Amino acid sequence: ALQVGIVGLPNVGKSTLFNAVSNSAKAQASNYRFCTIEPNVGLVDVPDTRLTKLEELVKPNRVVPTTIEFVDIAGLVKGASKGEGLGNKFLANIREVDAIVHVIRCFEDDNILREEGAINPMGDKGIIDTELQLKDLESVEKKIARTEKMAKTGGDPKAKREYEILKQCQEHLEQGRNIRELQLSKEDKVAIADLFLLTDKPVLYVANVDEASLLTGNKYSEALIEGVKSEGAQVIVMNNTIEAQISEMEDPADKELFLSEYGLTEPGLNRLIRSAYNLLELITYFTAGVQEVRAWTIHRGWKAPQAASVIHTDFEKGFIKAEVISYDDYVKYGSEAAAREAGRFRIEGKEYLVADGDVMHFRFNV
Ligand code: GDP
Repeated sequence: ALQVGIVGLPNVGKSTLFNAVSNSAKAQASNYRFCTIEPNVGLVDVPDTRLTKLEELVKPNRVVPTTIEFVDIAGLVKGASKGEGLGNKFLANIREVDAIVHVIRCFEDDNILREEGAINPMGDKGIIDTELQLKDLESVEKKIARTEKMAKTGGDPKAKREYEILKQCQEHLEQGRNIRELQLSKEDKVAIADLFLLTDKPVLYVANVDEASLLTGNKYSEALIEGVKSEGAQVIVMNNTIEAQISEMEDPADKELFLSEYGLTEPGLNRLIRSAYNLLELITYFTAGVQEVRAWTIHRGWKAPQAASVIHTDFEKGFIKAEVISYDDYVKYGSEAAAREAGRFRIEGKEYLVADGDVMHFRFNV
């Protein structure tokens, strides 16, 4: 599964958020699968109302949503890149994830220790960014040292270009900027792909606000939203303590009442999960049969054979064609047969670009 790492300074609400994630996963366990892989890793379903709708129409034996994995990466502190507070171990954890959720403290509470002084969202973000940048600088400089000789003496234009890109990254990091802002071309990215740079990973921010600011945000969350505008990054305003409480409620009616008391229509966690999914440029297609209605995750831009490979690698190798009904048509006509009769059932070939919400059936050779 895809992995999202939760990072942030101590006492900003990371563990609280992680508990909300793992509780909500457990609460779904009667219907859905749950697994704790390690104490700090939780697997959650991606909330998708389309799946519920398909379930109503098809009445399958079981429903399988698609999942995303959250990892609580505690222990990032100032100096982590220099090995402070087990820093290196935590940074290594970040290297493995596909995306980062950066939790920022936007609540005041005199009882909760804060070493950095007054609440300062952009300052906090800067501390974490700096640690990640320093670690990246280390990786980039190591590779520069390895490749320098070849780039300068050899006649290999590829090695030369690679070296140029590495130097460009070095300069950028030294200016206190993140690699994801550099917007390297796909070809140029190859030069740093093996480094899995931390500041190259897609990021979204959670502004952890106090209860009273849940719907409106506050001056801190506003400062954060303003501050990350140039990055084009998304900020999710939520209250992690309330999320943890919601996630502990088992009765859906209780949950709904609790949410409505706060003026919410859904848990903030759902917004966070969906945003993470979008951030990773993932889309969902469905398979719908009486045995099973299921959601499958693929990357935007995948063609039909590659999309089939997430079900089984043989599906890709032996791909013949795909039968496709768009989600809207499926719901509009109410069944595969009815959609077929209405002429909304398509046969697509190898070049078909799978769309979000496609209900698919693959034909393949074994
Ligand atoms: P971590 O160190 O980032 O994992 O932070 P924790 O999740 O352990 O939270 C640190 C403390 O802040 C705990 O006592 C939480 O109950 C509290 N906390 C977390 N979120 C909020 C919040 O939104 N408001 C307030 N007042 N306290 C919070």
